[in-house]
Amino acid sequence: MQKSYLRPTYIEVDQQAIYHNVHETKNRLHDDTELFAVVKADAYGHGLIPVARVCREAGATGFCVATMDEAIALRNAQITEPILVLGITSPQTAAIAAVQHISLTVGDLDWLAEATTYLQADTNLPVLNLHLALDTGMGRIGFTEKNNLAAAIQQINESLTFNFEGIFTHFATADEIDQHYFDQQLAKFNDMMSVVSQRPRYVHVANSATSLWHQVCHANMIRFGIGIYGLNPSGSAIELPYELQPALSLYSELVFVKQIPAGAAVSYGATYHASTAEWIGTIPIGYADGWLRRLSGMTVLINGVRCPIVGRVCMDQIMVRLPEKFAVGAKVTLIGRDGDDEISAQEVAEYSNTIHYEIICGLHDRIPRHYLPRRED
Ligand SMILES: *Cc1c(COP(=O)(O)O)cnc(C)c1O
Repeated sequence: MQKSYLRPTYIEVDQQAIYHNVHETKNRLHDDTELFAVVKADAYGHGLIPVARVCREAGATGFCVATMDEAIALRNAQITEPILVLGITSPQTAAIAAVQHISLTVGDLDWLAEATTYLQADTNLPVLNLHLALDTGMGRIGFTEKNNLAAAIQQINESLTFNFEGIFTHFATADEIDQHYFDQQLAKFNDMMSVVSQRPRYVHVANSATSLWHQVCHANMIRFGIGIYGLNPSGSAIELPYELQPALSLYSELVFVKQIPAGAAVSYGATYHASTAEWIGTIPIGYADGWLRRLSGMTVLINGVRCPIVGRVCMDQIMVRLPEKFAVGAKVTLIGRDGDDEISAQEVAEYSNTIHYEIICGLHDRIPRHYLPRRED
C-alpha cells in the first residue's frame, strides 16, 4: 500500500525510549550474556532499520528476525552483526544464507538432509551457521526427541558445510504468574541438553518475558523483543522489574468538524444516533491502517480530552464525538500521551480483546513513521 505522507496521520517512534529499554536490559545481564534484538515484522511495526541501529548502539550484539527477507534487508543496510532467522526457512535458501552469513533455525533431520543437497553443489560457499530449535512444549517447531537431536548434532559436526552455532527453546507461558508449565518446559530443555556434549557458541531460551521474570540458567544470549518497544510482555498481569518506556505513539488530526442535530446518524449502518445536538470530528485513519473495526466506542485524546469513536470504523476514516467545537487541525492522540492523560497500546488491546503485540504489528505501513532523535546522555 502507498505510504501516505501527505495525510496528517503518523506514528512517532521515540529512539531514546528504545535505547533506554535495550541499554537498561543489557546492563542487567551477566557480562557473558548477549542481547539479540528481535526486530521481526518491521521491528513490531516501529521500522526495521532505524530500530536495529539504535539497538546496536544500546548494546545489542545480534538480531533475530522471522524471515530470510528480513535478514537480507538488515544485511543490505550494512548491519554486520549475527542475524538469526527464528522461523523455518526453505532449504533452497541455505546457500543465500551462507553467503550472507545469516544463521538459520533447524527443527528436524529432513531439513538438514535437504539443505545439504543444495549446499554441496557449490564447494566455495562459506559455512552455514545453524541453531537447533528444541520443542520443549511450545508445540511450534523443533526437535522433541533426544536421539534425533543427537543425530542432528553429529551430522552437523561431521559436515563441512554446516557449523553448529546455537541451540535454543521457546517458552509458551513465561508471561504468566503460574510457573508450572514453564518449569515443565525447563526440565525438558535440561533433559534434552544432556545429549549436547559440546555447547555451541549460543545457548538461548529467553524471550522478553523469560528474561524479565525468570532466572535462566546456562544460557548466554537472550532474544529480546517486545521489551525493546517498551511494552510489558504480560500485558498488565505481572509488574515489570524495572521501567520500560513505550516507544510508539500514533497521532492524527481532525480534518472535518461539524454539528449534527439530535437523531442524526453517523457512519455505515447508521448505528449511531446523536442524542442531542452534537459536535462530530472526522479523523483520517481506519481499519486499512490497522485501526480495527472493533475499536468503535474506544476513546482518542484531543486537546487533553477523551473523545469516543462513534459509529462504525470505516476503512480510512473514523468519527468522534467532541465535547464542543474543536478546530480542524487539532492534534489527535490515538496511542500515546496528551498532557496528563495517556492511551497505551495495552489499553487499545484490552478494548479490542487482543494483545498489544497485535495492535502495534497491525499498524499498516500506509502510516509513515517519524523518528524522534536520541537525546545525548
Ligand atoms: C518473537 C520471538 C521472540 C521475541 O518475543 P518477545 O515476547 O517479543 O520478547 C523470541 N523468541 C522467539 C522464538 C520468537 O519467535
